[in-house]
Amino acid sequence: MSSRRSWLLLVRKLLREYGVRPRSDLGQNFLVVPEVAHYMAEQAHLTSRDHVLEIGAGLGLLTQVLAEYAGRVTALEVDRRLVKILQHQLRTYDNVDLIHGDVLYTHLRHFRKVVSNLPFSIASEILEKLLCEWSFLEVAIVTVQREFAERLVAVPGTEQYGRLSILAKLYGEVRILRILPPHFFYPVPEVYSAIVEIRPKPRSEVPDVSPRVLSQVTALLFSERRKVLRRVLRDLSEHDEVWRQVYTLLPQELLEKRIYELTPEEVLTITKLYTGLRTESGGST
Ligand code: SAH
Repeated sequence: MSSRRSWLLLVRKLLREYGVRPRSDLGQNFLVVPEVAHYMAEQAHLTSRDHVLEIGAGLGLLTQVLAEYAGRVTALEVDRRLVKILQHQLRTYDNVDLIHGDVLYTHLRHFRKVVSNLPFSIASEILEKLLCEWSFLEVAIVTVQREFAERLVAVPGTEQYGRLSILAKLYGEVRILRILPPHFFYPVPEVYSAIVEIRPKPRSEVPDVSPRVLSQVTALLFSERRKVLRRVLRDLSEHDEVWRQVYTLLPQELLEKRIYELTPEEVLTITKLYTGLRTESGGST
């Protein structure tokens, strides 16, 4: 296993040789600790029977480790400058498919696992794909900002609890495996990172509402997170007949709760009621 110093040197050398300045808007902080790459591959239990997707292959160092463990690796990268480097770095790996594309607009399938240091700026959108869209996914082992990880596992009544916690809880199981200090990446970011394990629930166990509507309703309610539900629904009722009906149908004790105290199941109940009434009243969801 190569040492940390050698990965750091290699990352800097590649960037210099190709004249690439890392773009922070694309979350380009490259992992420079080989042991962490191996740890991620091991946590995903990659074997030669596995097809793994890496979102944002960067300079290909994690990709090469994944290629040692997995039968097949799909390495996706949006930045053309890095794709050029990857073509060279990965040229001897015949089990790696390199794709130049944006994860949010590339149609991908066949893989069952994801291992990736997620681009932080679109972590939320990727999370929705992992939990709600890629129903064939077994497990994802991903690095995210520590604050983001804490929001994923937050429980009702806490500061970090919100839309992400609710989606995570209703659509999957999320665990924080490890916290990583900033200097494990180059350029060194300002924040700590966390490796999280995400296991989507099987289709038969996920709520039968549209994830999009659940997301919208949750975002709407949580924009007033400190207010009592009764008050929020009364405000919404002024412009929307469907919300007025939701208000009249919910039990009193639920209406007395503050938004950030609502459990994921309670938010789901509200969403289901809203969806049902909206369909009845002829609105589309
Ligand atoms: N896997 C590498 C790089 C992680 S940095 C490592 O571990 O070191 C995140 C990577 O995601 C960057 O290479 C960035 O260019 C890429 N990226 C950012 N937005 C993306 C998108 N929408 N689709 C695919 N890749 C993206």
